[in-house]
Amino acid sequence: MRGNRRRDTQTELRIRRELHARGLRYRVDHPVRLPGFRLIRPDLAFTRPRLAIFVDGCFWHGCLDHGGLPQRNAEYWRMKISNNAERDRRQTDALRSGGWIVMRFWEHETPQAVADAVQNEYSRLLSRDVWQAARTEP
Ligand SMILES: [Zn+2]
Repeated sequence: MRGNRRRDTQTELRIRRELHARGLRYRVDHPVRLPGFRLIRPDLAFTRPRLAIFVDGCFWHGCLDHGGLPQRNAEYWRMKISNNAERDRRQTDALRSGGWIVMRFWEHETPQAVADAVQNEYSRLLSRDVWQAARTEP
């Protein structure tokens, strides 16, 4: 279930465009199946190096800077957002124990800064793969 995450926020689209312009190719909402877990769909996934990217909306995921609660039904929202944050943590843990590297960003971060971080990590993982492959060759 995608829950109440709004699809394709402006920030996420800008990040995608930025990564694409840098020649990085990723899957959007790629389903990851892990034992004992419902499908997890990272916002972006680089499947070969198993790098999962989430861009969390400030409201839905409880950003401390911008995650203010509506006055109306405050308790309801508090619970809902705290459940979302809890689910985020469980999904991150599950992916990590499945061998994925997980990076989570806030929607308030600048797309360039996010793309820089993702690109660095992606390059690091790829070079690690290359070295591992070289080492296991006969
Ligand atoms: Zn925020």
